[in-house]
Formats: sequence, structure tokens, C-alpha cells
Amino acid sequence: MNRIYNFSAGPAILPVDVLKEAANEMLDYQGSGMSVMEMSHRSKIYENIIDEAEKDLRDLLHIPDNYHVLFLQGGATLQFSMVPMNLLKNGKADYINTGVWTKKAIEEARKYGDIHVVTSSEDKMFSYIPDLSNLPIREDADYVYMCDNNTIYGTKIKTLPNTKGKVLVSDASSCFLSEPMDVSKYGVIFAGAQKNVGPAGTVIVIIRDDLVRKDIDPKTPIMLRYDIHVENKSMYNTPPTYGIYLCGKVFKWLKKIGGIDAIHQINVQKANLLYDYIDQSKMFFGTVDKNSRSLMNVCFKTGSAELDDLFVKEAKANGYDNLKGHRSTGGMRASIYNAMPIDGVKALVEFMNAFEKKHG
Ligand SMILES: *Cc1c(COP(=O)(O)O)cnc(C)c1O
Repeated sequence: MNRIYNFSAGPAILPVDVLKEAANEMLDYQGSGMSVMEMSHRSKIYENIIDEAEKDLRDLLHIPDNYHVLFLQGGATLQFSMVPMNLLKNGKADYINTGVWTKKAIEEARKYGDIHVVTSSEDKMFSYIPDLSNLPIREDADYVYMCDNNTIYGTKIKTLPNTKGKVLVSDASSCFLSEPMDVSKYGVIFAGAQKNVGPAGTVIVIIRDDLVRKDIDPKTPIMLRYDIHVENKSMYNTPPTYGIYLCGKVFKWLKKIGGIDAIHQINVQKANLLYDYIDQSKMFFGTVDKNSRSLMNVCFKTGSAELDDLFVKEAKANGYDNLKGHRSTGGMRASIYNAMPIDGVKALVEFMNAFEKKHG
């Protein structure tokens, strides 16, 4: 077996302990004689799995009782549709545009309502987070939408927007469980699992009770109604059973290492190692505003597309994979999610240093 250092932005690295446990339980989950993949989602044994996953997630994020936790399908992208379909009442919502993922959400929401972009960092290739303290939020906006961490550009919202009393909705896919999050400040948080939590296909939705409405367009497909999923505890139909099981294992892993505060500290250390190296390097430079830097997705370049390509190629040959930046940005991106050990980042920095000496 040869595990490499995988810096993929998603689907991404998972904790080795979690994968080992899942492997051990593959053929016979806790004496059931079957794999979790093979069991009824209505069985007692599976009910325990999903209930524990929810409970552990609630513990980790201190989710208040007036919030529901849903495990749904369709990835984070389906939430771009479900949010406007379920939350628009006045038909208006205000969006903060910080990158590809918000652009997609805006485009989708425009099918359902009057969507205003209240601020955008598109003028500088989404390389910074705009000032969110005094946005022109409309009086009758149903919600304000943002993306906590921009996976592609490597920016992070550090101070939540002043929504002027409106409901805050966030796509937290790529920073979910990487640092503390005050759930009570949000109306809806959603996160695709494949960044920091589990396998692709599962999306976690945390929604405040009063936002789960019945009075929405009756033509809304039943699978896209939050109220139906809440009433059925994510089991209106067959949920992504195996994905939820793995998410549950990742939650337990996080609890074991000390919870969100502990992983946050480690994440800060990891990100600092990499950013500090980049900042003193004569070859590499960071591509985003220092105050907006993500702890999860570290974007950098050399200034030469050929050298970037060579770096990615040599890195891969040396066991550091998936460092190529998103096709829309070029350059490099090291995604250092929760499961990336600090040794992986140290090794990457050493490799970058050696590369710089060799080609500088
Ligand atoms: C990856 C990602 C998405 C898309 O997730 P899918 O599960 O592929 O739909 C959306 N938003 C953010 C912030 C992401 O990082």
C-alpha cells in the first residue's frame, strides 16, 4: 500500500483511521453479517448510525435545538436551487459574490426570484473578500447569501456580513468543521461532504426551524422540499446510507482529537507553515489578499505558466498529488483539509523549497 499526500480540492483526503475502520467493517458491520451498504435504511442498526452521526455533529458544532440537521443528496449544487425554492417569500434575495460557487448560486436563484448582487470581488479575479459591514441589503430581502470559504480562489470570509437582520444562508462546503462556527448566526448552512467530511454525494444541511416552510410553490419537486426532509428525518426516500456512515466516522474522529477547537489550531499551524514559506519565497507567491486567506485552500503561483506546470508535474512524481489550480485560475492550489496531517504540509514545504533551489 502506498498512500500519497493528496492535496485534492475535492473529493478530498479522508482520515486514514476512518478509512481503516470502514475497511474493517466492510464485510460485517458490528456482527450484522453485512456491509452498511447492504442494509435497510429503515433497520434499527442503520437508524443508530444516522442518529449518532447527527448527534455527534450537533455536539461538534453546538447546534442549537431549533435547528434541523439533514443529510441529503445532490451535492452542494442542488442547494443552489433548494435555497431559493424554499426560502423566497417576497421573491427577493441578496447575494454576496465571491467566486465561481456564488456565481453559480446566483444564476440558479435568478430562475426563482429577483436576485441582487450586493457586493462582488469579481473586479480583481475574486482575490479578496469585500467589506461586508454595510451592504445595501434590501428591506424586503428574504435572505442574504454567501459562501464561507471559496474553494477555487482560496479566500475565506473572516467576519460575517451585517445582514441588517435578514436571514443568513451560507455555502460552507470547503471549510465545514475546520474551525468554530456560530450556527445561531445563520439561517441555513449547507456543506457538500466531499471536502472535509466524507464521500461525494452527501450534503449536510443545517436549517433553522422557522425557515422550514410548507407554503411554498406546490409544484416544487417533493425531493427539493426542506419540510418533507425534516418531517422524514432525511429518510423520505433512501438516503445516501454509506456516505452518512462515513461522515459519522469522521465526526467521531474529530471528537476524538478534541473537537473543532483542536482541529482549528492544527489547521492554523498547517496554513501558517505554507503561507510563511510562500511569503518568503522568491519563486512562489500567494494569489489572494493576505487578510482573506483560506485555511483550507492555499493558492499560489510562480508567475510562469511553464514553471507552474513543471512544479505540478515534479510534485506528482514525488508523491504530492492534485496540486494543480482550478482550470479557471491556473497556478497551484494545495487543499489542506482537516484530514491532511501536519507532516504532509511540512513535506510539501520541503519539496517546494527544494524545487525553488533547483529551478530558481
Ligand atoms: C465543491 C463545492 C461546491 C459543489 O459541490 P458539489 O457537491 O459538487 O455540488 C459548492 N460550493 C463550494 C464552496 C464547493 O467547494
